[in-house]
Amino acid sequence: MDVREQICYSDAYARTVEARVAEVDESGEAPLIVLDRTVFYPGGGGQPSDRGLLLRADDGRTWTVRAARKSGRDIVHELEPGHGPPSPGDLLTVDLDWHRRYALMRTHTALHALCGVVWRDYGALVTGGNMEPGGGRMDFEFERMSGDLVDAIEATVNVELAHKRDVRVNVLPRAAAFAIPDLIRTRINLLPAGIEQIRTIEIVGLDLQADGGTHVANTREVGGIRVTGYESKGRINKRIRLELD
Ligand SMILES: [Zn+2]
Repeated sequence: MDVREQICYSDAYARTVEARVAEVDESGEAPLIVLDRTVFYPGGGGQPSDRGLLLRADDGRTWTVRAARKSGRDIVHELEPGHGPPSPGDLLTVDLDWHRRYALMRTHTALHALCGVVWRDYGALVTGGNMEPGGGRMDFEFERMSGDLVDAIEATVNVELAHKRDVRVNVLPRAAAFAIPDLIRTRINLLPAGIEQIRTIEIVGLDLQADGGTHVANTREVGGIRVTGYESKGRINKRIRLELD
């Protein structure tokens, strides 16, 4: 099977690319398109998929991509229904809704900075998370969390972001990734046995996680954050919400 280029994993800043239609599926309510290369992020790890446009070089016709997702090894683009899709072989310009994607990148990196601070300063494991452009939440095994602690965490995260830490993407063989003690806390051990390459996101000097998402290249791009709420989801499980300032 062809290897199709999935640019978001190596270059989060690529917002447009020329591509050919590889497959079209019109069997459902919304047409589904696979391209020979794409800049779309298909969603996962709490980060929603991208939205954007496809523009056909030949006649200038456009299609709105309302969502994307992973299907097998491919990234599938889901078009707005009601219009005939492009045809296999058509040459398209793929154009992300960059404003939204960049907000998601900043938000995602902010949430990792939060995880890094909560792990380093309190030893609390992250158990889950979710985000929208500009805000998100993380859940922790954090029995002694309190309002005072949350204020301290907010201040510390902002100090760390202001340190202008680089954010690096690495892809490691499975065995090498499992040898890194810090990765265990992100439940890397739950990854299916078939996955041989582990992608990691490192906020240099603060946080290292196995992660498939898109991030900014330096914490200065996040700016500051506000903790907008916290709640107990049980005796041990606590949720912290943050927004970009
Ligand atoms: Zn993440």
